[in-house]
Amino acid sequence: MQFLNKARICPASGSLSSQSMPVLGTLLDFLIAVRVKLSVYFFILIHFSCNEEIILSIKALKGFKDILPDEVGHWQFIEQTARKIFHRYGFEEIRVPILEKTELFVRTIGESTDIVEKEMYTFVDRNGSSITMRPEGTASVIRSYIDNGLYVRGSVQRLYTIGPMFRHERPQKGRLRQFHQMSVEVLGSNRATIDTEVMAMAWQILQEIGLQASLEINSLGCAACRPSFKEALQTFLQERIQHLCEDCRRRSSSNPLRVLDCKSEHCQAQYTSAPSILDHLCEGCSQHFAEVKQTLSQLDVPFAVNAKMVRGLDYYTRTTFELITTELGSQGAIGAGGRYDGLVRQLGGPEVPGIGFALGMERLVMLLSQKSRQDLGPSLDLFLITLGEKAYEKGFVLLQKLRALGLGAMMDHEGRSMKNQMKQADKQKADFVLILGENELTNLEAPLKDMRSGEQELVELPPAFEDWASSIKTKIRQK
Ligand SMILES: [Zn+2]
Ligand SMILES: [Zn+2]
Repeated sequence: MQFLNKARICPASGSLSSQSMPVLGTLLDFLIAVRVKLSVYFFILIHFSCNEEIILSIKALKGFKDILPDEVGHWQFIEQTARKIFHRYGFEEIRVPILEKTELFVRTIGESTDIVEKEMYTFVDRNGSSITMRPEGTASVIRSYIDNGLYVRGSVQRLYTIGPMFRHERPQKGRLRQFHQMSVEVLGSNRATIDTEVMAMAWQILQEIGLQASLEINSLGCAACRPSFKEALQTFLQERIQHLCEDCRRRSSSNPLRVLDCKSEHCQAQYTSAPSILDHLCEGCSQHFAEVKQTLSQLDVPFAVNAKMVRGLDYYTRTTFELITTELGSQGAIGAGGRYDGLVRQLGGPEVPGIGFALGMERLVMLLSQKSRQDLGPSLDLFLITLGEKAYEKGFVLLQKLRALGLGAMMDHEGRSMKNQMKQADKQKADFVLILGENELTNLEAPLKDMRSGEQELVELPPAFEDWASSIKTKIRQK
């Protein structure tokens, strides 16, 4: 396989060799004469004069990151904890494609959002269709819900999905272009208690992962009451338009709510006296929000109202919320969500209300690994140390039998020293080590070391080799 990684980067080793050098020389003299940087000369010289076969190493794309074995334990721990809690709340997993028609995201997320305007991975495929790599999970899940008629399965659907999302963020922000989210959607109920339940679940996931966060909530109103707030906000913005940043000026007419999200301190100073959405809620929205607050208190989920939280997506109605980390002094949302009662209809489905949220995996992993450096990856039941070729041969077969009995088992294949094999057992986080040498094969008993307590005991190896594995397993299970 090794040769596959080798590539010739030397056109000079083909037809473009010594006879083309004088031509290049003249060309280069000319380039230097016109003050092209010397580096160009060196670049071309190196490119055309080398004869060595060079192995090119290929780096990951900018903004794309490998999750290595040393860190994957934290990912698995978070995912497993979340899955456990999703199931406790009656959620079922759904897996949706990464690629969707671009139109899906333009119609759901909104044309004048940052995501659609600047950040989507959109391309034309070989059939000439415009395709986008999903920048968030909700739109795809709703598309699937409608596409597959999931609403006929029951009045309320509780769905969750875990996977990568893609946004072409500017690299200087330090954000990843492939990032991961766990997201949930509840479709088919507009009860305020559903909003509360969903927030309580997000809260509980963070609690069980071991992270502190504060919950901020707001209501964005509905199609009946939001227009009056929009109008009041637009009037307010017009009055101070010359003090606003370029983005806010543009949004003041196209998407005025989004200005409240502006990162500019200068803009935020202007918005301290901005009208509040909460003063413009209609009777229905007002009651809904009151019930959300009341039931959150009943469930002992602490929260704060933040009337300026608007979220980046156009489809939200009524309740929106963010989970803000309070760990290690860093501020930032680790999860967010909200209600989107018109979205299913807007995508051609039935009139079905919905609410959902997403938790950002990278942020959770970062906070968790800062908090506990302990490797959370799974441990190995047994490391089999073999000394000598005979023990190795026997051990090799024994290993397979142990695995067939359900034990996680490993051994060294390079004939390394006892000390080195012990080190490997440690690295594999083995709970037990069994030592097999010539003596053990003759005496039919082998020392089994409990790596957690340090205790050592002899295990009897039955006369029939067939029975060794179950004898070892029984001993391990007794401990
Ligand atoms: Zn309303
Ligand atoms: Zn601004």
